[in-house]
Amino acid sequence: MNTASTAESNVSSALARVLDRVAAACARAGRPADSVALVAVSKTHPAESVAEALAAGQWRFGENRVQEAQNKFPALRAAHPALRLHLIGALQSNKARDAVRLFDVIESLDRPSLAAAIAAAVAREGRQPELLVQVNTGDEPQKAGVARAEAEDFLRRCRDEHGLQVSGLMCIPPAEADPTPHFAFLAELAARHGLPTLSMGMSGDFEAAIAQGATHVRVGTAIFGHRPSPA
Ligand SMILES: *Cc1c(COP(=O)(O)O)cnc(C)c1O
Repeated sequence: MNTASTAESNVSSALARVLDRVAAACARAGRPADSVALVAVSKTHPAESVAEALAAGQWRFGENRVQEAQNKFPALRAAHPALRLHLIGALQSNKARDAVRLFDVIESLDRPSLAAAIAAAVAREGRQPELLVQVNTGDEPQKAGVARAEAEDFLRRCRDEHGLQVSGLMCIPPAEADPTPHFAFLAELAARHGLPTLSMGMSGDFEAAIAQGATHVRVGTAIFGHRPSPA
């Protein structure tokens, strides 16, 4: 078991290495280093690990479950008002109100029923998180996200039927595939719709995502270490 101070130096040094790699990937792509925001994915890791990242200057975090984030973040948020929290996992419509209350960015908008639930929650809460549409760029049956062929129609429905302002797109390419064509597809779709935010790239492929125009990379393992495998 690590002592607290060892864990702290591990998180802060891993974070520094990831930020160096982000900066180098930006330089190779001819992009300013501040054109890519790092979302530190803290799912399954304890609040202490988040606190260590905060102490090292990281303030943007990603979680994939509403309830886990509700347990972990309110106290950290109170202590760190600049903290920004992204929901990167599947959202059930009946949790939309909790998600709108807690998250600053919801990256997993992927179906009309959820768009309706988020629109209703926004109206009730008077709070408007930034919204990204998740696209299932590999059209994988087991994966969340709107199908490639339906993405344009879904974007239009979010705007015209649900009155939602979508600011960007998110994807998780198939695990075994070359991610670059998936990132390029997402970037092209975003450009065609004038959407400024592109959330793509994880520990294994964030440099390739930056080369294709990612504005947000979601990195967990490379910062916090391996997650315990699900039981
Ligand atoms: C877990 C997760 C990540 C982070 O993955 P790592 O490989 O640990 O960097 C990024 N995006 C989503 C949607 C995730 O669920």
